[in-house]
Order: sequence, then C-alpha cells, then structure tokens
Amino acid sequence: MGKIRILDEQLANQIAAGEVVERPASVVKELVENAVDAGSTAIDIAVEEGGISLIRVTDNGSGIDPDDLETAFQRHATSKIASGSDLFRIASLGFRGEALPSIAAVSRVECVSASDDSGLGRRLAMNGGTVVASEPVNAPRGTDITVRDLFYNTPARLKYMKSIQTELGHLSDYVNRIALAHPGIAFTLRHNGNLLLRTTGGGDRLQVIAAIYGTNTAKAMLKVSAEHPDYDLNGYISKPELTRANRNGLTVIVNGRTIRSYIVNQAVIQAYHTLLPINRYPLAVLEIGMHPSLIDVNVHPSKMEVRFSKEAELREFVEHAVRDALSGIRHIPGPDAGA
Ligand code: ADP
Ligand code: MG
Repeated sequence: MGKIRILDEQLANQIAAGEVVERPASVVKELVENAVDAGSTAIDIAVEEGGISLIRVTDNGSGIDPDDLETAFQRHATSKIASGSDLFRIASLGFRGEALPSIAAVSRVECVSASDDSGLGRRLAMNGGTVVASEPVNAPRGTDITVRDLFYNTPARLKYMKSIQTELGHLSDYVNRIALAHPGIAFTLRHNGNLLLRTTGGGDRLQVIAAIYGTNTAKAMLKVSAEHPDYDLNGYISKPELTRANRNGLTVIVNGRTIRSYIVNQAVIQAYHTLLPINRYPLAVLEIGMHPSLIDVNVHPSKMEVRFSKEAELREFVEHAVRDALSGIRHIPGPDAGA
C-alpha cells in the first residue's frame, strides 16, 4: 500500500500559515489590506500585548455577503482574481485567498460583516480553523474582525514571538507605511487602549507624515514628482540635514502597495550622494505608479517583496527624480551655506 496521502484542509492551512503569518504584524497587514481592498474610508486597528493576545480591525468597506462569509475563510477563496491572466494585472493588494484561512488556522477568530445597509450581517467564530459559531446578527456595513491568542495551537511558533515592544514596533511600522500609502483613508491604531496613530483621511500625504514623524519634520520635507513613459513618481524626501541612523525612514509605495525594495532604497540614497554623512539615511515617502504588467507581486506569500521587469530603468528614474528635488534647494542658501 502506498504511503502518500493528501493533507486534510486544516493541516494544509496550518502549514500555509507558517508562510503568511509570521508574527502579529503579518496578521495586521493581511487584515488591513483586505480592508483597503474593500474600499474602506476608515480603518481602525486595536491591538493588545503587541498583537499576541488580540488584534481587531474594523472597516467601513464593502463587507462580505452573509452567504460568502464561511467561504471567505476557505483556502484559495478570493473575490479578487478569477483567471491566470489576472495574475499579470493585479490591482488589488490581496489575490492569493490565503490570508483568512491561514490566520484562522492559528488563532481564535471572530468576524462580523455586512455587505449592505440593511443592518443585517453575519457573525462567524472559529477556533484553530474549526467553526464554533455562525449566525445572523445586526451589523453596519463593513467588516469587524478580531484575532485572539495568535499561535495558541502552534506553541513552537509562539515561542518565536519577541517581546511585546518588538512585536508592537513591527506592526506599528507597518500601519505607518500603509497610512502613508493611503492618505485618503482615516486610520487609527491603538495599543492596550492608547492611541498611537490617527490620520484624517483627508488625502494630504504631508499630514500623514506630520502625524507619524511630527510637524517639524513634515515642514522640512521636499516635494518630489517626476514622469516617465513607464512610471510616475510623487512624494516627499527630507532635506539633507534631516537624517536618520537607519533605512526605516524609507517608505516605498508601488501601485498602492507598501513594499521593501533594495533597488529603490539604493536609488534614493545614491541621489543624496555626498549630501549625507556616512551611515546616515534620509527620510522619504515615495509613491511610484506603473502598469501592473511591469511588476510581479507574486514572489513571496507576504507580498512585501516584488520583482520589477525593468529594474535598471526604474532605479535610474528614481535617482534622477530625487536628485532633481535636491538640486532645487542648493540654490537657496541655508543659514550655514557660507558666502
Ligand atoms: P485575498 O485577499 O487574497 O482575496 P483573503 O483570505 O485575505 O484573500 O480574503 C478572502 C476574501 O474575503 C477576499 O477576497 C474578500 O472577498 C473577502 N474579504 C476579506 N476581508 C474583507 C474585508 N475586510 N472587507 C470585505 N471583504 C473582505
Ligand atoms: Mg487578503
């Protein structure tokens, strides 16, 4: 008799969760991206103990049809793509249909959602991926999802959680970036009831920079904007005198998605060239738009890393744009510009 068998769905989800759900910040990322994809104009995030004991994301987006709620938690269930060709023109943040089942497999999830203004929605509760309650409830349009006791049933993973402060640092870094990417959405982030971030949703990116880095920093930013046949870029960079000890102040947004890009970071740093002291880095928030066919986001389950099809061209474009913005200020003598 053969020894090979197909894993049951719950076990498969637990394994997938190992890739999608690394830590509380990954859960926040997936839930917030779903809220963004749902067209929300307000997204509230509340976490407790660095997100390990509780993560709650409430949005006012399109909601999930009551008939779809259980399906949304099944593996490879998505409303965002339908065919292989869709993979090459992804406009949404999600598309893999893996987040909800993966999160549900390693936590206790409760989701209340309604997809219209009838006041009627549905509540679904799951423990480790097993449905424990599913019932109609009164709910406003939108989705309210709570994830408790992350990794309660995967102790090996739980052991790898760092301190509350470290986990909180990762997740608030992510929330800052997505708020910078979407100035038109009003975000709040609370930890153990304390407000850590509030953005107005008024659409002004400089206001979001002020909310995160302070008003003085926002005032000291330079505007960048550039066009190219394949790309457009806009955002803000710091004047050379405002530097930081690491690259965490570099926020790169491509087609609404916050990504980590060594290429773009290097281009920005190169543009400053000798304007930066050694081992100091600028602050920058850059939004790059390009046709979805020029970027492959299906490189890693967390979608933080992407592949660009014209890497060298992009790098050069970004470097030029940043250098242009910087050259503008050299003509204005600063207080210590000398004679
Ligand atoms: P993906 O985002 O890759 O489609 P997910 O597992 O994250 O997969 O979500 C599955 C589906 O559930 C989504 O395609 C969407 O239809 C629905 N969904 C999840 N979260 C929300 C939300 N906050 N608002 C509206 N629909 C949602
Ligand atoms: Mg998703």
